[in-house]
Amino acid sequence: DQMREAQRALEAPLFSGLPGDIDVSFEFFPPKNAAMNETLWQSVETLAPLGPRFASVTYGAGGSTRERTHQQVVRIQNEARIPAAAHLTCVEATREEVDEVARHYWDEGIRHIVALRGDAPDGQSQYAPHPGGYANAVELIAGLKRVADFEISVAAYPEVHPDSPDRQADLDNLKAKFDAGATRAITQFFFDPQCFFDFRDRAAAAGIDGEIVPGIMPVLSFAAVRRMSGLCGTAIPPWMEGLFDGLDDRPAARQLVSATIAAELCRRLYAGGVRQFHFYTLNRAELSYAICHMLGLRAKAGR
Ligand code: FAD
Repeated sequence: DQMREAQRALEAPLFSGLPGDIDVSFEFFPPKNAAMNETLWQSVETLAPLGPRFASVTYGAGGSTRERTHQQVVRIQNEARIPAAAHLTCVEATREEVDEVARHYWDEGIRHIVALRGDAPDGQSQYAPHPGGYANAVELIAGLKRVADFEISVAAYPEVHPDSPDRQADLDNLKAKFDAGATRAITQFFFDPQCFFDFRDRAAAAGIDGEIVPGIMPVLSFAAVRRMSGLCGTAIPPWMEGLFDGLDDRPAARQLVSATIAAELCRRLYAGGVRQFHFYTLNRAELSYAICHMLGLRAKAGR
């Protein structure tokens, strides 16, 4: 039945009558200066009326944004009134230091952490845990749960994490993250909906019954996305390369192409039963807003 439903949604005229029965969340990064802060806040205020279930703020490599992440997380929750989640990594910090950051969040009323291992600092090729630190995300989750009963989201990799020996080890690691107390996984970005569906099936077969939310990356700059894809193992479909060909100096056309690609990805995910979406906003509201709108979501009155 779900398959027939999905088929019908795919064959229907574009986005006609989608009821907006979806949950969305938005990811931001901490701004480096006043102008970027302004852009971020315009975006937060644009997206807030869509009623996201949470908004998260990333944590810079090696804890370099500790203060800025904290400041934005608290502000999003207190001023924009969106339940906020703080990303936190294990990199370059002892367990005590990480616990202290978490305790500080709890004291400020932040109840949700996106718990990550993090990556090797620039210039180091391979990740090595801090001698007195948490070794990986699983250990971090257990540590956070000892600090307080946080809601915890974690990372998942439909195209397999580059450090993972194989697909099964990566799934076992994801299962261990749920077993340690995570309530949701957010995926690395991807461009092929089938890749997400296969991952969802494999996760279910591995006994994972927690929520797996696709991370949607609207392409602002194709060069940047190509660079990131190289680092994190996301495949760029050949057709996509072709679609951005010749648009380097045409930002408006490029944005329309990006919106079309991301919206089509979301429409197919929706047709396959997905009702939860996490947007990598890159601190820009318009693409994420437009896609949510096409999926049927409307700004709530009274905000
Ligand atoms: P883990 O789950 O700990 O594992 C990473 C890899 O190592 C996996 O392949 C796993 O299989 C393997 N592994 C782990 N432990 C073991 C073990 N004991 N034995 C064998 N293999 C093991 N980075 C930031 O710096 N800041 C952020 O704010 C940030 N936000 C992110 C948000 C999302 C939604 C995503 C998807 C990623 C984010 N990242 C962020 C990137 C993330 O830090 C990197 O992808 C990092 O390389 C892995 O983090 P993890 O939590 O998935 O690691």
